Amino acid sequence: MRITALAGGVGGARFLRGLLHHLDSLPTGPDGPHEVTVIGNTADDVTLHGLRICPDLDTVMYTLGGGIHPEQGWGRAGETFGVAAELAAYGAEPQWFTLGDRDIATHLVRTRMLGLGYPLSAVTEALCARWQPGVRLLPMSDDPIETHVVIDDPEGEAHADGTPAVKAVHFQEWWVRLHAAAPARQILAVGIDQAKPAPGVLEAIADADVVLLPPSNPVVSIGTILAVPGIRDAIRATKAPVVGVSPIIGGAPVRGMADACLSAIGVETSAAAVADLYSDFLGGWLVAPGDAGSTMPEGVALRAVPLLMSDVEATAAIAAAALDLATQLG
Ligand code: GDP
Ligand code: CA
Repeated sequence: MRITALAGGVGGARFLRGLLHHLDSLPTGPDGPHEVTVIGNTADDVTLHGLRICPDLDTVMYTLGGGIHPEQGWGRAGETFGVAAELAAYGAEPQWFTLGDRDIATHLVRTRMLGLGYPLSAVTEALCARWQPGVRLLPMSDDPIETHVVIDDPEGEAHADGTPAVKAVHFQEWWVRLHAAAPARQILAVGIDQAKPAPGVLEAIADADVVLLPPSNPVVSIGTILAVPGIRDAIRATKAPVVGVSPIIGGAPVRGMADACLSAIGVETSAAAVADLYSDFLGGWLVAPGDAGSTMPEGVALRAVPLLMSDVEATAAIAAAALDLATQLG
């Protein structure tokens, strides 16, 4: 079985770990071992202190490769912060984004390779050679794409018609420094219109037996992947059933601030409203038991199962339910 999944950071990575755990328990399929290709979000990427950082790709790589900080869900286990302390002593900004020493090694290798002209997909493959994540991890695009968030600028001069001044900040600044508390007037994926899918991405969607949408952020993770020209069309066109897992349980994101992103695009925080965002290609949608009464877009099969990814076993059961639903649809 060839499975292709789209993924953001923590939610996507945790789901994928459960998926691999479930696949390990299955007999090998008629056409050999099960293969998982992950199309990772790169719109959270940012350059800080001269280092290119790909938070979502790294979260997937560390989680599946056994290097993740277990409670936090991102960053390295056993991390130290010597470099961050030295940078702070120099007053080097920004200080709201702390980089751990171990993590910095990843960013140094990546930045050096990018500087030599390697595309991000080749760099990601090189980093994964160490971590052996058990999936083929592809960035959604080799072209730089950055999510920016438009917020009010209290220090800026109001417009003549009285509307307040606004400014755009990088998504990481909005999320990490401002905790998504400043209302987002707009969320923009800068550079996406000119971006192309990375090599292998469209093929992985076309050739898949199943396409999965883990419970990643529907706006700034799955939403940006789908917005890379060609990717959404490929998912609409694939013969594979597409099954998604709701990131929203009972009207709230389980962890994180996805509701702030949904309100920015005028979408209600509910399992049904997220399914609506995918209604042009979605075949099946897993929701939590409490959301079993959700009204689905036409043609979408609803299945209710516990959706808390509390440990690997519970997450493997969610992945198994997603594959089972896909088999029914397929
Ligand atoms: P990020 O890039 O680190 O923000 O991670 P993702 O975009 O991959 O996933 C974030 C989303 O995962 C959040 O918006 C939550 O709604 C969702 N999420 C986190 N934990 C759980 C869980 O246990 N169950 C479900 N169903 N969703 C979860
Ligand atoms: Ca992310």
